[in-house]
Amino acid sequence: MVNLNVYQGRLQKYIYEKKLVWKMASSKGLRRHILMDKWEILYTKAQKEYSPREVTPFIYAHNVVSALETEDGKIFTGFCIESCSGVCNLCAERVAALNMFVNSGQTQIKRIITFRDKAPAEKESSSMPCGACREFLMQLDIKNKNTEILVDYEKRKVITLEQLIPNWWGLSR
Ligand SMILES: [Zn+2]
Repeated sequence: MVNLNVYQGRLQKYIYEKKLVWKMASSKGLRRHILMDKWEILYTKAQKEYSPREVTPFIYAHNVVSALETEDGKIFTGFCIESCSGVCNLCAERVAALNMFVNSGQTQIKRIITFRDKAPAEKESSSMPCGACREFLMQLDIKNKNTEILVDYEKRKVITLEQLIPNWWGLSR
């Protein structure tokens, strides 16, 4: 006979270890609770922003998407905004960071995911922040050196910003 207490204990331990949370999901008109980890939640939120399109003859957007979690657990999303002149371009990560800063005043990012039409995979490098984004995130908050950047969605492999930008010039300030 199955001991329900043991089963529930194991399930709770699994949920705790994997840092899973219950989320309400709806499909085919049915609403149900499902277990998601933090990365799946971020992935799902970012994915909603994916719809590549020309906004004007000069601006192309929504072809790279991003979602981040702040220190207090709030989620903000962003999408890339490409213009005809390079200096005006904004990457999805920076737009997500600005969205967080403008709307919450927060500067510290716990984790961030960025991708095009599919989830980050190790063999592709498009989920890595560019040099400008690495620099901006570091300048936005020095604690962002601990920000986890998702490298591979299936493996849940992460890298920290500090690993991407070692010996950063501003560390002694
Ligand atoms: Zn960038």
